[in-house]
Amino acid sequence: MIAKIEGFCDFDDDVCVASNMEGGKHLVLVASPFQGHMTPMLQLGSVLYSKGFSITIAHTKLNSPDHANHPEFLFLPLSDNFLAIDASANFTKFLELLNDNCRMQLQDRLTQKIQQANHQIVTIIHDNSMYFAEEVARNLNLPSIVLRSCSASYMPAFLALPKLHADGLLPVQDSMLQKLVQELYPLRYKDLPFNNTCTEISKEMLALSERIRTPSAIIWNTMDFLENSALTKLQQHYQIPIFAIGPLNETARCQSTSFLKEDTNCITWLDKQAPRSVIYVSLGSLATMDENELAETAWGLANSKQPFLWVVRPGSVKGSEWIEFLPYGFIEETRGRGLVLKWAPQKQVLAHTAVGGFWSHCGWNSTLESISQGVPMICQPFFGDQYVNSRYLSYVWRVGLELECLERRVIVTAIRRLLVDEEGEETRKQANNMKEKAKYCLCKGGSSFNSLNNLVEFILADCNWS
Ligand code: UDP
Repeated sequence: MIAKIEGFCDFDDDVCVASNMEGGKHLVLVASPFQGHMTPMLQLGSVLYSKGFSITIAHTKLNSPDHANHPEFLFLPLSDNFLAIDASANFTKFLELLNDNCRMQLQDRLTQKIQQANHQIVTIIHDNSMYFAEEVARNLNLPSIVLRSCSASYMPAFLALPKLHADGLLPVQDSMLQKLVQELYPLRYKDLPFNNTCTEISKEMLALSERIRTPSAIIWNTMDFLENSALTKLQQHYQIPIFAIGPLNETARCQSTSFLKEDTNCITWLDKQAPRSVIYVSLGSLATMDENELAETAWGLANSKQPFLWVVRPGSVKGSEWIEFLPYGFIEETRGRGLVLKWAPQKQVLAHTAVGGFWSHCGWNSTLESISQGVPMICQPFFGDQYVNSRYLSYVWRVGLELECLERRVIVTAIRRLLVDEEGEETRKQANNMKEKAKYCLCKGGSSFNSLNNLVEFILADCNWS
């Protein structure tokens, strides 16, 4: 059981329903246990709360959000019977079990609340990986809306996978990697999601995504100016309203959404560094590397001679607890110039004036956070949508440099180009331009500002727009 925190109430606690709940239209947001999905869902909750809705976050007990950080929400913890994300063995099986384990609990708890008639639940909003929530909504006669926390540009590539399979083009052969995919310009075969995994996984992922059959709308954490072409294609494909209301990291006023403890000492360290001098390195919550890749990264950072802030998640280096595989001599060589930590307050880090570049795996949250702060990127994708994001960052939006391979000399060139060399000036300027455009989206009259208002109207109209 999750411990009760003073001042906080969970969904079962009727005493606590008072201030947030009375009279307010109530939304149930069903969150996923992945960090990159949980964060935008909590951010969405915070944004919709500010628009006057009461919010319940239904979440698995695995990777529970910290309730104390979100006193404005009610929470509905669901037993999932998992002790950890067991995605390495069979990701799709893991998702299926997770959905199966949560379905009846959500349905029973919401049925009870509806019968008690003190909760006016109007809509269920769910993460795309928590597709069981759609079935629950249907059974309870409630509309459902999906939150997509990936880039819009990823989806056309994802949806094209069956045809690419049928044409015998997947998994991608080495000789094809650099070639353009005809119907998915500007993606090359190497930029396709699941280009390096077996055919079965991508088929299973597609099959799972098809479990969502009748959503009333889709909320996309993106901006129209950034992904207009993909959003237009998706609108034609899905034929339901799509609300592009991002970047949620900028609009949400919520405290930390991290599962791991954020090491805030790094901000004091950043305070002592020169403006725009630091390369921040983080590969998100899931990517892993081997010992050799760790060593190349370490020596690339050391030899770049730039200050660095490097997040090495515990367990992210295969076979290690934390940093015991760092190469001999690295700590001495970089003493005073670098900081290695387990988890950073990333939003704060990217907003810090000392940070001049972000070496990233190109997860969509990291991408949006970097764009919002005008921080140019080094792109090193690992899986899924990250390949697509990397291509768009480097080739279309031109705010990132693609890391061709993980070799120390290549890394040094990329870091110096991004932060100091004349050659990187265009990328740095473009990152700044993007930041201004992103800001504009959220101002009165901007595309995300308008989309959010439209979303609120849509929900208030029972998700029924003619
Ligand atoms: N993050 C963080 N501290 C870190 C590393 C990551 O707070 O040290 C956050 C980051 O700000 C982002 C999320 O974790 O919001 C990672 O999501 P993303 O979509 O970028 O990647 P994923 O973890 O899903 O691969």
